Amino acid sequence: MAKKKDITSALHEKGGVPQPETLSITVANQLKKSRKKTPTTNELIQGILQKDITALSRAITLVESTAPKHQQQAKEVIEACLPYANKSIRIGITGVPGVGKSSFIEQFGKLLVQKKHKVAVLAVDPSSTISGGSILGDKTRMEELVNEPNAFIRPSASGDSLGGVARKTRETIILCEAAGYDIILIETVGVGQSETAVHSMTDFFLLLKLAGAGDELQGIKRGIMEMADGIAINKADGENVKAAKLARVEFNRALHLYPIKENNWSPKTLMCSAIKNEGILEIWEMISEYMNLNKDNGYFEKNRKEQNKFWLLQTIESTLKSDFYNLPNVKLELKKQFELLDDNKTTPFEAAELLLHKKNSKFKNSP
Ligand code: GDP
Repeated sequence: MAKKKDITSALHEKGGVPQPETLSITVANQLKKSRKKTPTTNELIQGILQKDITALSRAITLVESTAPKHQQQAKEVIEACLPYANKSIRIGITGVPGVGKSSFIEQFGKLLVQKKHKVAVLAVDPSSTISGGSILGDKTRMEELVNEPNAFIRPSASGDSLGGVARKTRETIILCEAAGYDIILIETVGVGQSETAVHSMTDFFLLLKLAGAGDELQGIKRGIMEMADGIAINKADGENVKAAKLARVEFNRALHLYPIKENNWSPKTLMCSAIKNEGILEIWEMISEYMNLNKDNGYFEKNRKEQNKFWLLQTIESTLKSDFYNLPNVKLELKKQFELLDDNKTTPFEAAELLLHKKNSKFKNSP
């Protein structure tokens, strides 16, 4: 108090100087900062590395933006974060709507936080583009986890293609890792191609299933079974327990029909109840066992390197494709070739050849 008075009186001594507000420089800077609409690239990078959630969220918003200015800034932030990334366990979680993904992630995430991990929950949900809002990774569906200071939940990015949504999620993983999240959960819905995308950006792929009436394997996509590193039969509670046990046997038998995986891991089927919070720890133990095996035999590193190559090629392919279709003369000629095709004046192959080989010309030779 005395000190403050001294300062004030010193100011008065000089005479004519207006009395300053008693606001510390730090607070003033913070206020100035919060009033600023767009933080600088450096502020974002520093914020992320200091584990600031606001900076992380803002950087993710830039990643999700389609504005070229934002994309450029996002690129710079990601590049700066890259050296701090890669230090997490990435777990993909899939299952049909209603299987209990959100309920499971709520319990699983809480368990991981109790174990002193920092957990980020992301989602790949291309359908959110159609429905206009994301249905996965929704905060309102993970009421308790959302209040955990060491959990960060971000709904799925929207985009005009699965490739676009997947790219944004991959970049978001880097930002989350740089912000100190050491476990990344990526949820996706068990329909369409999104599982393949999530599988190729995660270290462990968990399939959530429900017990049925003995026809568990019917309707299940072969590809998904092959991708799964573990299956959890959820809702194994009350009257469902018996059916869940039967389903577990059936899935285990089916899993053994697949060739042994490159890393020598044999996928397991477990049972859990997200609602009763049972069997969740066993799932984490299974994933830990898998991680230890993969880190010891070098598969973890190898797989991540392969995933990087896969995404490099994917990015080239999608960029070439969209660049091609966006060329003004291609747009025009494609329309013309469709009409010719309808009138049986060309064949699909002839038309494709013409479009591909003459993409830079003015298509003078088209029929
Ligand atoms: P999602 O669509 O896969 O995310 O599924 P939700 O987590 O939203 O769950 C769908 C419904 O199943 C909700 O009504 C949940 O309360 C219920 N549910 C989820 N897990 C369990 C469980 O372990 N046991 C039971 N009995 N119900 C569950």
